[in-house]
Amino acid sequence: MNKICFFDTKPYDKIYFDSLKEKYDIEIEYFEPKLGPKTAFMAKEFEVVVAFVNDTIDKKTIDILYENGTRLIAMRCAGYNNIDFKAAYGKIHVVRVPEYSPYAVAEHAMALLLSLNRKIHKAYIRTRDFNFSLNGLTGFDLHGKTIGVIGTGKIGRVFIDICKGFGMKVIAYDPYPIKNSNIDYVSLEELFKESDLISLHCPLTKDTFHMINEDAIKIMKKGVYIINTSRGALIDSEALLEGLKSEKIGGACLDVYEEESELFYEDMSYVVIHDDILARIISMPNVIVTSHQAFLTKEALHNIAETTLINCRDFFNDKVLENEVCYQCGKGQACLRQKNKRCF
Ligand code: NAD
Repeated sequence: MNKICFFDTKPYDKIYFDSLKEKYDIEIEYFEPKLGPKTAFMAKEFEVVVAFVNDTIDKKTIDILYENGTRLIAMRCAGYNNIDFKAAYGKIHVVRVPEYSPYAVAEHAMALLLSLNRKIHKAYIRTRDFNFSLNGLTGFDLHGKTIGVIGTGKIGRVFIDICKGFGMKVIAYDPYPIKNSNIDYVSLEELFKESDLISLHCPLTKDTFHMINEDAIKIMKKGVYIINTSRGALIDSEALLEGLKSEKIGGACLDVYEEESELFYEDMSYVVIHDDILARIISMPNVIVTSHQAFLTKEALHNIAETTLINCRDFFNDKVLENEVCYQCGKGQACLRQKNKRCF
């Protein structure tokens, strides 16, 4: 039986991976810590390592893994901004789960928006205390509002459909617009200027880092709502905080935060939080923060486990790595994926 090891294990991961591991003839050793330069030694003699969004997969981690025999990092997520691909290239293949449920993430984005706008998070606490007052709970109709969607990939498109179902006017920005779609594409600047609400569905890259910054916020409508279920560093958190304090930003729904890696997914309720920006943002009445949970549905967890185990099985069986990614992918240079079915 082929063996893999698994970092940053949570109980809900185990349920779905354990239910499928026999089907793919794979034995799993689960580790609680996140993968990083200090924990990479734990993967000694494991050819395959399963990792997640907040693991630190930098050059140091990759070098330790490689020296100890690892040849595949199987990301159990779609995003891969936490990997030093240049360091991995030629040494360790990287696979991911490109799609597991765009519905899970898009529905969570709308859940956050509805909760914040209609003050459900406040009302829930009030009525549990038999406080039936409505003061301060006024929201606004989503119907007729303009929402700007940044990134019209798998999740962005599902989110657009949901918004259209609410009777919202949708405008979108994507440097790679879908041809012949009925999506109303505009420039990023126009999107910032025209939108009552903005939802982020693009990957974190050097081009998108801090795309919501002081300059962008300056040209937005007063009272704009910002929804981020993509990656925290798409938003400059200090600029967001200033925007909230000045009331230029009317609300923020955040499933991700740029400095989340040491906090999210853990119970920090007994710990003094040293991140003053996050603490202040969370304290705002017009902010909802969830702990990178947009993916967390039964369907998504099942699909993540299944695709990850298929990726691992294909690696062990020397098959094509359908879901491999490298920093040369699509650039037609060193990446050998089209010719040799693997990136190197
Ligand atoms: P996708 O690859 O299908 O779509 C991404 C889209 O972003 C593409 O259409 C691409 O052209 C576009 N894009 C690229 N650069 C851009 C730019 N500079 N400006 C605007 N758009 C740009 O990806 P997806 O499956 O829709 O996922 C989107 C993002 O959601 C992922 O990158 C990931 O970071 C995030 N995500 C979050 C969770 C969560 O639990 N919160 C779960 C899954 C994915």
